[in-house]
Amino acid sequence: MIRIAVLPGDGIGPEIVAEALKVLEVLRAEGLAVETTTGLVGGAAVDAHGDPLPDTTLALCQSSQAILFGAIGGPRYDTLPREQRPERGLLRLRKALDLFANLRPAQVFPQLAAASALKPEVVAGLDILIVRELTGDIYFGEPRGIRIEQGQRVGFNTMIYSEAEIRRVAHVGFQAARRRQGRLCSVDKMNVLESTQLWRDVVTEVHAEYPDVALSHMLVDNAAMQLVRNPRQFDVLLTGNIFGDILSDEASMLTGSIGMLPSASLNAAGQGLYEPIHGSAPDIAGRGLANPLAQILSLAMLFRHSVDRPDLAARIERAVEQTLAAGLRTADIALPGEAVVSTVQMGDAVVHALAQGHP
Ligand code: NAD
Repeated sequence: MIRIAVLPGDGIGPEIVAEALKVLEVLRAEGLAVETTTGLVGGAAVDAHGDPLPDTTLALCQSSQAILFGAIGGPRYDTLPREQRPERGLLRLRKALDLFANLRPAQVFPQLAAASALKPEVVAGLDILIVRELTGDIYFGEPRGIRIEQGQRVGFNTMIYSEAEIRRVAHVGFQAARRRQGRLCSVDKMNVLESTQLWRDVVTEVHAEYPDVALSHMLVDNAAMQLVRNPRQFDVLLTGNIFGDILSDEASMLTGSIGMLPSASLNAAGQGLYEPIHGSAPDIAGRGLANPLAQILSLAMLFRHSVDRPDLAARIERAVEQTLAAGLRTADIALPGEAVVSTVQMGDAVVHALAQGHP
């Protein structure tokens, strides 16, 4: 029995998770043994329990093989004390499950090349995987805070990586490259930051175990430039937490829509949290405008990385491609003048394509 915790969250989260669950239902009807349990997280959990990650939700996630996560946050929660903000719930969940490796594919579906902010000839066929370290770096480093020094406020954080943290995510990056085109580009800022000099040294050491993978290194400022200049030069990009946060959002824009991109966050036991890379999109929540494809593709990643059913992952991905090829577009991926479908209609179309593609 596959046990999946379902955490819809806030804003468009519940709308798009509902579409992914419809897709899952098709597979269940075909005989897949899967059990889903829904839990509260983010603002929805703050409203109910005053805590963005209640103990019951954490326990549910700990006892599940995988977590299907929607999105969290919203303007209503922005003025809460930091510990109660929805984002803290997600950060705590990542830390508690030790989800140290974040996988973010940035792929341009041929049908959507014209929707990219870049010229179609620059992005057509783009297929990058960003492997981002997720539980270390300046986001978690201590000491941190805002203090008074000589009568003025001073803000400070600590950028810190241990050798072991770098090594384990480097292994994930090299293994991913091995399953793809065999090229890994590691990103750092070793000319200025000592912690990233160590990053480069350790990645180079780990490379000795992967002689079949071609390793290159790039400074983060250059990587940001190369991603818009010539993104297809990359296969797998390996980054620390903060650099990956920024570069993966940049990469998402290459693909035409933030509403298309899934992600996986994995721990050493293969447990994973699967979520779209976008947020809760409060500006469009509740209006049937959200694109559910990133959420549905997150479900596909779940089958690939936490359940060892790459066949089901491929079927879901194929159903999404067929749906796009049939011309269905939510507003975010439609070109001017193109007909637009709702969140539910897009989900229905994927369900239909998936059911047709029954092996
Ligand atoms: P966002 O990703 O929610 O939205 C950015 C823009 O993209 C908006 O115009 C939105 O309408 C659009 N968009 C996002 N997803 C879409 C989809 N599936 N279909 C169509 N359009 C889509 O980012 P934001 O507006 O900066 O943040 C909104 C809230 O989400 C904030 O509270 C933020 O903290 C939170 N957030 C949560 C996560 C997460 O849950 N992991 C990630 C990022 C931001």
